[in-house]
Amino acid sequence: MAQENLCTLCDGKCCRYFALEIDEPTTERDFDDIRWYLAHEDIVVFVEEGDWYLEVRNVCRHLDEQNRCRIYGDRPALCRDHATDNCEGRDDCELDREHEFRSDEEIAQFAEEHLARLKAMSKKERKKAKKGKKGRKGKKRE
Ligand code: SF4
Ligand code: SF4
Repeated sequence: MAQENLCTLCDGKCCRYFALEIDEPTTERDFDDIRWYLAHEDIVVFVEEGDWYLEVRNVCRHLDEQNRCRIYGDRPALCRDHATDNCEGRDDCELDREHEFRSDEEIAQFAEEHLARLKAMSKKERKKAKKGKKGRKGKKRE
């Protein structure tokens, strides 16, 4: 389906959240900070391809009542770069998330097990696991 038609039928799903990459938590304090993020409403933390993201589920102020962009001609680069290839408006959209945390309780439980796993790994193994990490960036789902 052409992008224009697909977006016309969609309720602006990609304009109702944003996600920022965060550092991978490796200490109790890191996880405690994430626990604090998740104590707030409409916050999700997820892991995709080994990268950690903070997702804020909050609608963009420029989305109008018809789910159209009020500043379409001057929209930010992240919006321009967002394609419909595998976007969240498609029926066949697949999210490739290894983990998704929706509450402080969920991350606290995961932290306990994850920190124990990290502790059991050698320094070399931890370094290898971190290799190939990308820089911090904003994101819409792809
Ligand atoms: S989620 Fe996809 S179909 Fe919906 S508005 Fe965004 S780009 Fe268009
Ligand atoms: S600026 Fe426009 S396209 Fe970008 S998120 Fe807001 S409403 Fe959507």
